[in-house]
Amino acid sequence: MHLQGTMAINEHGRLVIGGCEVVQLARDFGTPLYIFDEDCIRDNCRQFYRAFNAGSGQAEVIYAGKAFLTTAMCRIIASEGLGLDVVSGGELYTALAAGFPVERIYFHGNNKSYAELCQGLEAGIGRFMVDNFTELELLSRLAVERGQVAKVILRVTPGIEAHTHDYIRTGQVDSKFGFTLPGGQALAAARRAGELPGIEFMGLHCHIGSQIFELEPYNEAVAVMMELAAAVKEATGLVTAELDLGGGFGIYYTTGDEPRPIRAYAETILARVREEARRLNLPQPRVLVEPGRSIVGPAGSTAYTVGTIKEIPGVRKYVAVDGGMADNIRPALYGAKYEAILANKAGMPATEKVTVTGKCCESGDMLIWEAELPPVERGDILLMPCTGAYGYTMASNYNRLGRPAAVLVRDGVADLIIKREDYSDLIRNDVIPARLACPR
Ligand SMILES: *Cc1c(COP(=O)(O)O)cnc(C)c1O
Repeated sequence: MHLQGTMAINEHGRLVIGGCEVVQLARDFGTPLYIFDEDCIRDNCRQFYRAFNAGSGQAEVIYAGKAFLTTAMCRIIASEGLGLDVVSGGELYTALAAGFPVERIYFHGNNKSYAELCQGLEAGIGRFMVDNFTELELLSRLAVERGQVAKVILRVTPGIEAHTHDYIRTGQVDSKFGFTLPGGQALAAARRAGELPGIEFMGLHCHIGSQIFELEPYNEAVAVMMELAAAVKEATGLVTAELDLGGGFGIYYTTGDEPRPIRAYAETILARVREEARRLNLPQPRVLVEPGRSIVGPAGSTAYTVGTIKEIPGVRKYVAVDGGMADNIRPALYGAKYEAILANKAGMPATEKVTVTGKCCESGDMLIWEAELPPVERGDILLMPCTGAYGYTMASNYNRLGRPAAVLVRDGVADLIIKREDYSDLIRNDVIPARLACPR
């Protein structure tokens, strides 16, 4: 168990985040509760910003909003000088509502609708990350109709796939994302982007996976993408002014996860870009990266209240909490692993192995198969760290559970950034046709 960010254990043996006792937060805001450590988010932003020397204008760090996005989060990201990657009209709307600087908004997505493209043009966003020919043609038409020029980065599937401790060069053609590099589709896309009115070709993008701990996949991605940039220049004369290498930087979830410092990724990527640019006699592109998980994952935790404890002698002890797959689907969805700590017994040594389960009507509604905890009792406050990324954003109302509240903590102050959904929220969009009489 690693204490993340500003987490500490105080003299009463209670867990503190951002100077706030978790037990007190649970009392004040209820559980389940997402707790976001503002200093930790900002520190992660700054580590990226400094490591990539984003202040120089030679690089930009673009936060991938799909990891966690609210209007308050947009304000933090904006104030740290980062860009924002959005993948839907809803995320774009959130950013605009928060007043996020439009020129730093990058719009991703493999199936942007007509309305979403219009929304992006209307707002005057920084870049459209164009994924396919259909989008390229449509965007050109819409931009021309409006007398605008859309700045475009082409998303490429480079044939490199990385996950956690391994990567492969697949020559992969079977992806729903982007223009396929093998076979010349990516090159054809660049040629088309150069021809179409209303389109300004800015550069190339790839995203090679998630929760990557190794440097080599990024190294390889740079090499492959710079080769493509050279081919594009040769074939079309177009210059790749921006090279976007996506996100995917790994974080700590459980023992055995050993993330590298951001500096190491930055040094590897920047050095290789310089080297390849020199070797291929290309101007050095502005380097873009799109971290999501590594900005917000370690900064978020979920606090639950322990309820039912069921012991099957010789088999397992189930500890049920008042949330589950509705507020964190990652364990059920793809076997994601987490650790836990009892916020009210944080100073006590772990003495038992238990299984932390949710309250949803699904046997797969597990949060942690093997959690090491001090003796657990009903009413304890169980905290799962590192739930900041892809927790709230993937939350559902399964079993008509209201989505939890989220608080932002810093220097002993806790501010609500997402209200808890109550019962009236759950039926807000329900409609009863008039012909359904009131039951009696
Ligand atoms: C998901 C995604 C990211 C962020 O990935 P993390 O693993 O959260 O860093 C960045 N760019 C693109 C295109 C993505 O799809």
